[in-house]
Amino acid sequence: MLEAPVSTVKGVGAVLADKLAALGCKTVRDLLYFFPRRYEDFSHITPIASLTPGKVTVKATVESATGRHIRRGLHITEAVLNDGSAKVRAVWFNQKYRAAQLVKGDEYFFSGVYDLQRNRYVLQNPATEQAAGAGVSTARIVPIYRMVVGLKSNQIRKVMHELLPLMAMLPETLPPQLVANQKLLNINDTLREIHFPTTSQRLTEAQNRISFEEVLTLMLASAYNKKDIASLTGWEVPFNAATAKQFTSALPFALTNAQRGAVWEICQDIAGASPMNRLLQGDVGSGKTAVAAMTAFMVAKAGLQTAFMAPTEILATQHAQSLANLLEPMGVRVALLVGSTKPKAKEATKLHVAHGDVDVVVGTHALIQKDNVFKKLGLVVIDEQHRFGVAQRAELLQQGARMPHLLSMTATPIPRSLQLTVYGELEVSILNELPKGRQPIATKVVSPLARHTVYTHIDAEIAKGRQAYVVCPVVADSKDAELKSVEAEHERLTKSIFKHRRLGLLHGQLKADEKERVMRAFKDKKLDLLICTTVIEVGVDVPNATVMAIEGAERFGLAQLHQLRGRVGRGSEQSYCYLIPTTAESVSQRLRELEKSTDGFYLAEADLKLRGPGEIYGRAQHGELNLSFANLADTKLLKKARDVATKIVATDVSLVKYKQLWQQINRYRRLTKLN
Ligand code: ADP
Ligand code: MG
Repeated sequence: MLEAPVSTVKGVGAVLADKLAALGCKTVRDLLYFFPRRYEDFSHITPIASLTPGKVTVKATVESATGRHIRRGLHITEAVLNDGSAKVRAVWFNQKYRAAQLVKGDEYFFSGVYDLQRNRYVLQNPATEQAAGAGVSTARIVPIYRMVVGLKSNQIRKVMHELLPLMAMLPETLPPQLVANQKLLNINDTLREIHFPTTSQRLTEAQNRISFEEVLTLMLASAYNKKDIASLTGWEVPFNAATAKQFTSALPFALTNAQRGAVWEICQDIAGASPMNRLLQGDVGSGKTAVAAMTAFMVAKAGLQTAFMAPTEILATQHAQSLANLLEPMGVRVALLVGSTKPKAKEATKLHVAHGDVDVVVGTHALIQKDNVFKKLGLVVIDEQHRFGVAQRAELLQQGARMPHLLSMTATPIPRSLQLTVYGELEVSILNELPKGRQPIATKVVSPLARHTVYTHIDAEIAKGRQAYVVCPVVADSKDAELKSVEAEHERLTKSIFKHRRLGLLHGQLKADEKERVMRAFKDKKLDLLICTTVIEVGVDVPNATVMAIEGAERFGLAQLHQLRGRVGRGSEQSYCYLIPTTAESVSQRLRELEKSTDGFYLAEADLKLRGPGEIYGRAQHGELNLSFANLADTKLLKKARDVATKIVATDVSLVKYKQLWQQINRYRRLTKLN
């Protein structure tokens, strides 16, 4: 019944069904869970004599109702309403059917805005319903739904009204025991209150119940994942002090305290019987690679292989080089396996990997092709895990008899709330300290009117043999003429101010090999200035680049700007970042935060406060999260849901029969699971 198409609901024909489908409502269940985006409180009925401007409801008899054309394209219906206390005029524009609909002498509810119109107070375009009937749009807290062209909230309310009997008989979606213990509203009342609230108090209870269920589902998904991981057999890599010592003495620098802490946590994980599942979070330049290298070294010394995956060929090549430099003198064999590796070399490397003649293989997605077999895969390192699809990770982890340890690294700070929910089954290590002697990047917000000063500085740096980036918000020119497009800027700068320099163009719409070519040319110092979009955001390491100008800076999140800025300041030279907003007016407090701080975690939190979680994590990263009401910043709610989830999973309560819940849990498990 819930899976039946919307067209089975009374009053829903083919045309309406199509419009509902455009809102994502294909089945009856979709409809039930298509929640209003907001409400308008028209529940209070005011006598006409005491009306004050604003949203009002009156219950009155129609004395007269007439319609006429004022001019071409403008029709007006006027009605005189009387409730015994006084009379009031109601007007509707371009609703020709109104006059005929209003029966003189009948009583109706009118809900709308009471306000001045041409020197007199009238009720404007009020929703109107027979006082004797069941109201869905008047005299109540009225739900306002998301709309599409040609479909009014009112029509959706009528459809929802048809579903009331169904809402009343739905089976509970949570274990009834839980509903009782947590004092939750039952599902029947919940759905009814959300679509047709009786009071705002009850509506809040209904929304709270849905919030709890939403967060609980997330928590259950990660609790089950965590339990699964704990039940798997991994490769035990006992801590070996001599091996650790050998690595640290080979390093050209001393590990930071944060790096040491992370390594220690990892050592404990990999010494255990179940596989490690750890996320290493650390700001750009905090030295995550060294931590991964040390782990790979210890794993290699235990006779196991490491697969090291990077999101791009450039990064993979970079990693392979630095890992080889560091590890090969100590007898660890490192190989690179990427898409552009020549077929013959590729085959040879694959054979070596299969025979166990390679200890660390670095690559991109080419690493996880099915025909690529490891002899004894003990560790998987994933750099910038956000860029990898879940399915890809799954493939890699399916190989081998035992489950390899997993170390996932990211420079994107993940707020605590998401760590608890979406990434709940991951252990987390944080590198909150930069290596000593790093010069902070001098950051400045520059008005677009002073753009030439930035160009002058860029040119001066290039004259010193350095390189620079100009980052633009869009690829091609669009209607939004104010935004700098990377193509137009490249052309403009090539022809004018930088015509004596070597410029490169880089953006996501270029073919992969073209991107690689440009990036390599920049790395090899064959280009002075790279005009690019945010494609350069991930891990690119060109220590000779010392200046970056970011156009349309107000369009980016603070965390993202911080990541972008991390592309400079990677060498020993002082580096600079200029933030140029689209207009002089858009110079904001938000951008000034970047002048003040170089701490990615602080900036992520500041962004969260300034823009709200929806803006930052809602669409961008967690479009697949299905949250209607739950607020992931509600720590009390998170804690409660987590406790309940832990208990359910520990006591083996079976949720299989709560079909809807079970399906959603499994959706999230696939979404967040790393194996
Ligand atoms: P990220 O965390 O952004 O991946 P990397 O691992 O690329 O950072 O490290 C950035 C640079 O810092 C590298 O050149 C690396 O050799 C260097 N580095 C890493 N750890 C230290 C340290 N403890 N002391 C000094 N330099 C370090
Ligand atoms: Mg890195």
